[in-house]
Amino acid sequence: MSRFVKRNPQTALVHAPRQAPQYISTVQPPLYRASTIIFEDTNALFNRHWTDDYDYSYGTHGTPTTFTLGDNIAQIEGGRYCLLAPSGLSAINLVNSCFLSHGDEVWVADNIYGPNMEHLRNLEKRYGIDVRVYNPIDVSSFQPTEKAKLIWLEAAGSVTLEFPDLVGLVKKAQAHHVLTALDNTWGAGLAFNAFDFSDVHLSVDVTVHALTKYPSGGGDILMGSVVTRERALHHQLFRTHAIQGISVSGDDVAQVQRSLASMRVRYAAQSESALQLLAWLKQQPEFVQVLHPADSSAAGHSYWKDICVDQHSAGLVSVIFKPEFDLQDIRQFCDALSLFKLGFSWGGPVSLVMLYDLKDMRALEHTHLQQGLLVRFCIGLEHPADLIQDIENALKQLNNHHKKTE
Ligand SMILES: *Cc1c(COP(=O)(O)O)cnc(C)c1O
Repeated sequence: MSRFVKRNPQTALVHAPRQAPQYISTVQPPLYRASTIIFEDTNALFNRHWTDDYDYSYGTHGTPTTFTLGDNIAQIEGGRYCLLAPSGLSAINLVNSCFLSHGDEVWVADNIYGPNMEHLRNLEKRYGIDVRVYNPIDVSSFQPTEKAKLIWLEAAGSVTLEFPDLVGLVKKAQAHHVLTALDNTWGAGLAFNAFDFSDVHLSVDVTVHALTKYPSGGGDILMGSVVTRERALHHQLFRTHAIQGISVSGDDVAQVQRSLASMRVRYAAQSESALQLLAWLKQQPEFVQVLHPADSSAAGHSYWKDICVDQHSAGLVSVIFKPEFDLQDIRQFCDALSLFKLGFSWGGPVSLVMLYDLKDMRALEHTHLQQGLLVRFCIGLEHPADLIQDIENALKQLNNHHKKTE
């Protein structure tokens, strides 16, 4: 104790005698938790430039922990700058609130992540933003006027998994000076490079990624990111991010950072399992349609094939049940599953199932979709044979139930 300055216990509890050395090397980067960042002296205080990258001035503007994860995400996705948000939906909101003003027109794919559409409909009512819906597999349905500011893309689209004509849509958007924002959650920066589509050297302006899904990989952490390649766009987003007080917990960031190392391996395994399920599901008589972009009959299959490297296709597959199965039947089916848990989200270790009624979810007619209730399977890290057996058992129970109630 003698080498410590003698202090009152009350002060000693606040000012620890030992500071961690700054130079030890560890496998995982050190975790910084900060609201306050302590300035060396008044010179450092007066020379802070919080709008610069890697300027340390206050917790909401970033710490080494958040910048490390942000750089990783930007690099994986092929961009340069990254901002973190407390959820994927918050990252979406950041993009919308940064770029959209009263009187602007925003274009949204009909199969966009549902809460993004809800968010935009809310902006439409309250702030006079004109929301237009296009068919993701038909570029001609995207008809921007001179008021068009932003187009939302998603590949593959939520729930029905159509793969859009990204090249066609981005080319048309650029020709009309419309900003392109891609929800990159499905591809995770692994299936394709949104900032440089293979061979065509075409880039979106902004990507949003629900890090909640594959990067977290645990089904336990919520986070989102916004990646850009152009500095000017990044700065616009950066200012919005700062004035809205958007920030993330250092602890959560460290968890995602830790999971990132295994993301590609998990993604490939889940893609592979989904393909095995796809092949099996296609042979089952209970379904009128199985939806997955790698299926040769899928809407947008050729666009998927052109853009996705290594034919990666994430771990999602949806089925549409024959119309003779009603909601009661489908609920019975979902409840009969044992490995597939009923819940939202995906990308974690546990396989998930969710049921949808497309009638309530789409603004346009989609002739490629069959009538019937839809169930989406999100593949976890279980052995695919066990997952298939789980679905087989549930289908047996469904058929028994269906026969009894006929
Ligand atoms: C989950 C998800 C989001 C939203 O992410 P949260 O972190 O749950 O808010 C956005 N887009 C897609 C495609 C998603 O799957």
